[in-house]
Amino acid sequence: MIGYIRILAGKGTMKRSCMTDLYDDHLHEECGVFGIYGDREAAEKTYLGLYALQHRGQESAGIASTNGTEINLRKGLGLVWSVFSDPNAMPMLKGTAAIGHNRYSTSGSTDIINAQPISIISKAGKIALAHNGTITNAKELRDELQRMGSIFQTTSDSEIILHLMAHSNKESFLDMFIDALARIVGSYCFVLLTPEKLIAARDPFGFRPLSLGMSDGAYVVASESCAFDIIGARYLRSVEPGEVIVIEKHAMRSVMLPPAPKIRQCIFEHIYFSRPDSLVFGEKVDKIRRRLGKQLALEAPCEADIVISVPDSGNTAALGYSKSSGIKYEIGLIRNHYVGRTFIAPHQDKRKLDVKVKLNPVAGVIESRRVVLVDDSIVRGTTMRQIVQLLRSRGAREVHVRISSPPICHPCYYGIDISTRTELIACTHSVEETRDFIHADSLAYLSTEAMLSTVDNGDRYCSACFTGEYPTPVPADFHKYQL
Ligand code: SF4
Repeated sequence: MIGYIRILAGKGTMKRSCMTDLYDDHLHEECGVFGIYGDREAAEKTYLGLYALQHRGQESAGIASTNGTEINLRKGLGLVWSVFSDPNAMPMLKGTAAIGHNRYSTSGSTDIINAQPISIISKAGKIALAHNGTITNAKELRDELQRMGSIFQTTSDSEIILHLMAHSNKESFLDMFIDALARIVGSYCFVLLTPEKLIAARDPFGFRPLSLGMSDGAYVVASESCAFDIIGARYLRSVEPGEVIVIEKHAMRSVMLPPAPKIRQCIFEHIYFSRPDSLVFGEKVDKIRRRLGKQLALEAPCEADIVISVPDSGNTAALGYSKSSGIKYEIGLIRNHYVGRTFIAPHQDKRKLDVKVKLNPVAGVIESRRVVLVDDSIVRGTTMRQIVQLLRSRGAREVHVRISSPPICHPCYYGIDISTRTELIACTHSVEETRDFIHADSLAYLSTEAMLSTVDNGDRYCSACFTGEYPTPVPADFHKYQL
């Protein structure tokens, strides 16, 4: 029922077997999406937008653009710069509207075939699509669609929406899309491109963020507002939960989907995923992260000489902790910024690699000091254990770990890669047992109530990975390779 437009694969085909992930002990982001309509440099601006959103996904990147007739697509495995390092990449994407995607897989393998945007030709015409989020009823929908004759090209949940559109009885493109969205459970921000229009949609729960901006008369949408800053676009507002924005003929209109019982924006966007210089869900991430640190200092005070952070994830919360506690903030750990998210170790057993590749303590700051070490979260506990050990080896007298979120005890089904409870130390260890495991002198987490007090309208946030209270039915046997 649908045909696929030829993929021009970019460079960047590193094999995961020779890499080790130095962030294994952090949650992984989901994806970043970007779209622009009405700009002669649409693809170039999408490239810059994706560059600003690189932290949301490093497995693959892609841009689809239109000149009003065709949709051209380039995508590849790797970082944005490497996928588009070929000087021929941008000229072939010439057009006045474009969408882009950075991927970290929460459904489907790391494979070029799963890179986005996905581009197809169907009864609805030529479409390119990029998705941030996770469809929790993907398995049932895919089984049903396959029984009806659909042939899938990817193992990603994102493709399902295109098949649902192809099976819809509705007449117009927008109605087909809305009809397909009605079948989907889970989280999504979609950006769709056709030769005539750009469509952006955010799920009715509002799990993942999407912002709307404007640049020299061109409309822009992006997962975070830092993607607007890099192209000089002006932030207009957050796309509302359940809002579908249609931009065509240089005008914008909105359609609202039926509302969810509750709005549930991901609190982890503020704690860790989003850049501190972004506006997310209409609020400044930096401000909220400082408040998290301040609340942490009030709830878990500590007798210490200095506050340091685990860079970069703990930086802003550590500043908040320092301000509220009156304990001096110092830069006690230096991060090697030239070590990427993945570290290539050609001749080394990756088990022997440790956090020293990435972080080094400043001995003059640490020596003989009682240290408060602030980070945003603990997942497995293995990295935190190494950091505490590293600080002690450089002469820290005491190490008190403070975490600016509650213990993560439950998997996320809405676009964050926490799929099993066994990955989570807080699931199997008490706070005291975790403290013992990481060899800290003390360990404290922020409470859920204090965390939610740092945002406007805390009752509009999802905190299911801390509380286990999921806002939607969740599948019993969900895992990222299920398709
Ligand atoms: Fe965010 Fe946690 Fe909810 Fe997932 S479960 S959407 S990570 S708050």
